[in-house]
Amino acid sequence: MKKLILNFKSKDSKKIKNPKNFLGGKGANLSEMGKMGLPVPPGFTISTKVCEIFYKDKKRLSQNLINQIKRELQIIEKEVGKKFGDLKNPLLLSVRSGARVSMPGMMDTILNLGLNDKTVNALALKTSNGRFAKDSYRRFIQMYGNVVMGVEGYHFEELIENYKLTKGVLLDTDLDESDWDGLIKDFKRTVKDKAKKDFPQNVYEQLLGAISAVFLSWESNRAKVYRKLNQIPAEWGTAVNVQSMVFGNMGEDCATGVVFTRNPSNGLNEIYGEYLINAQGEDVVAGTRTPQYITKKERIKAKVKALSMEEVMPTVYKQLHKILKKLEKHYKDMQDVEFTVENKKLWMLQTRSGKRTAKSAVKIAVDMVKEKLISKKEAVLRIDPNSLDTLLHPTLDEKDSINVIANGLPASPGAASGKVVFSSEEAERLTAIMQDTILVRVETSPEDIQGMHAAKGILTARGGMTSHAAVVARGMGRPCVSGSSEIDINYENKSFKTSSMEIKEGEIITIDGSTGRIIQGRVATVKPEISGDFSKLMMWADNFRKLNIRTNSETPKDTKTAKDFGAEGIGLCRTEHMFFDEERILSVREMILSKTIEDRSIALNKLLPHQKKDFIEIFKIMSRLPVTVRLLDPPLHEFLPRTNKEINEVANVVNLPVKEIEIRIEELHEQNPMLGHRGCRLGISFPEIYEMQCRAIFEALAELQKKKIKSAFPEIMIPLVSTEAEIKIMKDLVIKVASEVQKQHKVKIKFMVGTMIELPRAAIKAKEIAKHAEFFSFGTNDLTQTTFGISRDDSGKFLNDYIENKIFSIDPFVSIDEGVADLVEIAVEKGKIQNKKLKLGICGEHGGDPKSIEFCSNAGLNYVSCSPYRVPIARLAAAQAELKK
Ligand code: PEP
Ligand code: MG
Repeated sequence: MKKLILNFKSKDSKKIKNPKNFLGGKGANLSEMGKMGLPVPPGFTISTKVCEIFYKDKKRLSQNLINQIKRELQIIEKEVGKKFGDLKNPLLLSVRSGARVSMPGMMDTILNLGLNDKTVNALALKTSNGRFAKDSYRRFIQMYGNVVMGVEGYHFEELIENYKLTKGVLLDTDLDESDWDGLIKDFKRTVKDKAKKDFPQNVYEQLLGAISAVFLSWESNRAKVYRKLNQIPAEWGTAVNVQSMVFGNMGEDCATGVVFTRNPSNGLNEIYGEYLINAQGEDVVAGTRTPQYITKKERIKAKVKALSMEEVMPTVYKQLHKILKKLEKHYKDMQDVEFTVENKKLWMLQTRSGKRTAKSAVKIAVDMVKEKLISKKEAVLRIDPNSLDTLLHPTLDEKDSINVIANGLPASPGAASGKVVFSSEEAERLTAIMQDTILVRVETSPEDIQGMHAAKGILTARGGMTSHAAVVARGMGRPCVSGSSEIDINYENKSFKTSSMEIKEGEIITIDGSTGRIIQGRVATVKPEISGDFSKLMMWADNFRKLNIRTNSETPKDTKTAKDFGAEGIGLCRTEHMFFDEERILSVREMILSKTIEDRSIALNKLLPHQKKDFIEIFKIMSRLPVTVRLLDPPLHEFLPRTNKEINEVANVVNLPVKEIEIRIEELHEQNPMLGHRGCRLGISFPEIYEMQCRAIFEALAELQKKKIKSAFPEIMIPLVSTEAEIKIMKDLVIKVASEVQKQHKVKIKFMVGTMIELPRAAIKAKEIAKHAEFFSFGTNDLTQTTFGISRDDSGKFLNDYIENKIFSIDPFVSIDEGVADLVEIAVEKGKIQNKKLKLGICGEHGGDPKSIEFCSNAGLNYVSCSPYRVPIARLAAAQAELKK
């Protein structure tokens, strides 16, 4: 059996395949630093495997494990020449969490473990420093009381504050040994009072309690939230690091600090950090004392008088500087390091790859290539594609005060503030008078498009990540929080309620589409800045990738944006979205509600010139590149008139009594519109609709050809096909119209006809379907919906329960599910058997998700297509997928 607990110096760590998975990031790096000969306090790591066993074993540590821990402890005792619980020379320990990836501040830490009423005196004697010993003991009671025994931290803080007040001093450092003596008694009393238990005096009980508490903190609420936000699987678990203590709080020649090897916010190649003299680690982060700068340069830049470490401890600073360089060279990445100075001796407590802003991540990667520290390949692999989002959208200034009143799904990134409005008209009215708005709707429908465009951001109570609101908002680059079941909208009162307050129309809120936060009031934002380094990195990525990147777009504006971001064509032009315009939607309603072919043709003839005009523009922008135009696929319910005003409008246009329109709406009503009369089923029932669309496409192409303008290459796509017969009939229709237009205009037009694979039957019968299709484009939104039988519009209501119960590790509408992926693979294989040259792409929202892009690359697809603002993310993700092969 593999050893479950490893000493930092153990050679066994070399045999471990993925040390971070087994030892956690902190444990793996401590062991690595030990091997590099850096000064690391002795210790051992209890592996993540033990965390798994702990949870399986009713959250208990087995006797076997306890024995192993004791054996490891003896090894440390020998190394440092101290004994755990000894009354002469006691060994003290730190117990710290360490997951595979760092989760700063999310899990628990306990320092100074091993102190009790007796060992504290031994420590005082041994160090001839009573104040230090008592200070360490009270810190231990405070931390242990809080983390292990559940006593809220403020009880202890209050006691300290009262003590300082009575004594008339400001700082903790002004309290002396007798003060701490008094506080220790008070702290122990508080523990007994609140936890109904004595503070444990047995050092082994302390140790086992602390280890269990760290494991338990993996399931704390804040850790769960952090995991969800950062897509960290719950099954990873955390490791626990037990290490002998070194002390930064023994006097003026002691210190503790945190330092980055480069500046984490702007990426500059200068060390950046903070430290405190005579302090322990938590003092630096807790903000009880103001830390000082590490370097003189930073101190002067900040116009601060308190001297930097470089000035106060020049020798130790030089040693630290050297170690930082060595670490960066070793890890070939910017490091975030914790250190302690105990009586002028430097100890390294931790190193990890430093968290950084996307902007600095790009700068550091590009700089490191220049410095020949890493290759271009490594630079490209190093950037998290999703993080590029923040370079493309304004983001919240986290330094501003942020009062989160509810949460929803992070549907479209970026941040926006504005007055709450509940209707598109109000959004447009206020925008016209230069006021920012946030459009708040239960859900959005096509007629909201103007309002969505006018508003700075969109918030909906219903709908998932692929709901109409989310898809349209991402396409427009509008921030959107969707499916927030925490808000209760009342259109009549023009207000919405959260669990804590009511927000009325006109009040200002901020939404953060990158995290799903809904915030009261206005929050400052930081503008995006695309730097030269960014485009350089993108260029390198483009050289590595094989997948083509297209965009989902249906307006000239979005098409232009996507092209500027590097899109190599359009993978999905949703033609029904071209009808969202107020003037056109009326004609669409007219067309849908018509009872006869004649009436429908009148409506279609009104739509044809609009379609043609849009196609001309889009084909020009995407000159020489492929453009996939999908024939109409409207879930009818999205287009039917709802309000009296809308019904009257249509009645007027078609010249029919309102009653008759209402009857027709009733006839068209569907119980399950998503499974209803949509996609090619409309084309089968009303071929004249598809004929009009094909005419608009081919006439647009003919016109461009006549004007000698190089146009895009059209790929005509039939939606929601599930049988061979459907695609055959539709293909024949496209070819018929193409011949007519070519003949009429005396031109020759090259084009392709293909289909979407978005229904399980289509994937399974791909061989037959491929007889009539030159390309497949996977519509994984509908494929996910129909594979699971989960409505893409309503899943937001219960997805959280599925994630909490670990049924889904991530929303399957965001990142492609294994089962759906299997269907894609089946379709690829069967389609290729029929037609070796079959062109393959994806146009569901997964086309912009890095994990799904990796799947697409491995599955042999030719391209992915995503919303315009995700194009750079997809370019990078596609390069990474190739490099990982
Ligand atoms: C899909 O189903 O994945 C798709 C792209 O089509 P739509 O989202 O328009 O239904
Ligand atoms: Mg679809």
